[in-house]
Amino acid sequence: MPLTDTVTTDEDLVRSRLRDLLAEHDPASTPAVEFLGARFDAGLAWVSFPVGLGGLGLSPDLQGLVERELRAVDAPNEADRNVIGYGMAAPTVLTHGTEEQRARYLRPLFTCEEVWCQLFSEPGAGSDVAGLATRAVRDGDEWVVNGQKVWTTLAHTSSWGLLVARTDPDVPKHRGLTYFIVDMHAPGVDVRPLRQITGEAEFNEVFFTDVRIPDSNRLDAVGAGWRVATTTLMNERVAIGGGVVARSSGPIHEALRIWKDKADKTSTQRDRLMELWVESEVARLTNMRARALRTAGTPGPEGSVAKLVGAELNKHVYEFCVDLMGMTGTLFPTHYEMRRPDRAVFSGGADPRHTFLRSRANSIEGGTSEIMRNILGERVLGLPGEPRMDKDRAWSEVPRS
Ligand SMILES: Cc1cc2nc3c(=O)[nH]c(=O)nc-3n(C[C@H](O)[C@H](O)[C@H](O)COP(=O)(O)OP(=O)(O)OC[C@H]3O[C@@H](n4cnc5c(N)ncnc54)[C@H](O)[C@@H]3O)c2cc1C
Repeated sequence: MPLTDTVTTDEDLVRSRLRDLLAEHDPASTPAVEFLGARFDAGLAWVSFPVGLGGLGLSPDLQGLVERELRAVDAPNEADRNVIGYGMAAPTVLTHGTEEQRARYLRPLFTCEEVWCQLFSEPGAGSDVAGLATRAVRDGDEWVVNGQKVWTTLAHTSSWGLLVARTDPDVPKHRGLTYFIVDMHAPGVDVRPLRQITGEAEFNEVFFTDVRIPDSNRLDAVGAGWRVATTTLMNERVAIGGGVVARSSGPIHEALRIWKDKADKTSTQRDRLMELWVESEVARLTNMRARALRTAGTPGPEGSVAKLVGAELNKHVYEFCVDLMGMTGTLFPTHYEMRRPDRAVFSGGADPRHTFLRSRANSIEGGTSEIMRNILGERVLGLPGEPRMDKDRAWSEVPRS
């Protein structure tokens, strides 16, 4: 791409890169992979990432400008196909990866040639993910992994998984974990669908039987898995709840649409709509403020505010939508067929009755609302922490079911 960057401000730089990108790659006719690759090379994937790694080293606040301008011309966007790649894997690889790992993984992640999933939760470890039991044992230059993960979104379309495994059972739980990038097509990886309330199987259970991972696919140091996982989790909360949409768009737009089309409206429903509109606007402005303060890397506790508020609000808005629809709100829109979607949409994008059912997961996925309240109580309000009896005991000595 020719550099026409005779610019004075960061915003000018972004605008100039956008102009060049669109001049050379017609968004209407360029295949998605090619367009996204060119966008990455122009530093417009994530403007806060370093130059050469999809970014321009600028404030993440300028990302909104890129997204708005590219949406306005209907440019290819595959983010829904790789929600975990974009929201969690990219910042985790950036923060903890080696130069080789960053150069290897970020570009195909952004073009969606390689989709990612997150292998944290287990049947016996969800909220208490640090208590997980999947084992990785070193064997020369490789690690041998055995165990089971669960609720793994898009594992069935993924090339790579973000895996946290126990490498030392004889130290307290947070200290015995190591973080790996696992090839989802390696021998011994078995992905089985789990059907949700919507009828679909967006997520899966994943079994590991003697799966071999090269040590070069380890992210950060042996035993540093919890630190790396924290980067993933903090970014996950922002990815789920921290998006900044235009005023009156997103879920509240759906409620407004149904309200406008409805013949028999009551003043109680109007009051409820106004309450939800105000709450949506407050959440939107809070997310804008949080985004303006954010720098590249690991977000702070504002991610937990966004996650908590966004999840509860989505649920309330879609409850209101099906209430407004009356009897038709109780009818499922399709034949409730079992599908394995190739994208995960946390909110909206489908019939409101489908989204109403999907929204029930919002206060569980990415950490439950109870856990978000615990985090905010302890880390933001400075309230006393929960009693943690297993904090200083070796993981192997802690009883588990
Ligand atoms: C749609 C969806 C997609 C998901 N995708 C993924 C994924 O891609 N990868 C992945 O690894 N995981 C994924 N998950 C799993 C998710 O992260 C866990 O379900 C979540 O962390 C809760 O864990 P759990 O289900 O084991 O419930 P538990 O931890 O057993 O919790 C059960 C209940 O107890 C409450 N509770 C637990 N501990 C406390 C506490 N200390 N204080 C107060 N209340 C508490 C919880 O809030 C909850 O109500 C997904 C979940 C859903 C619903």
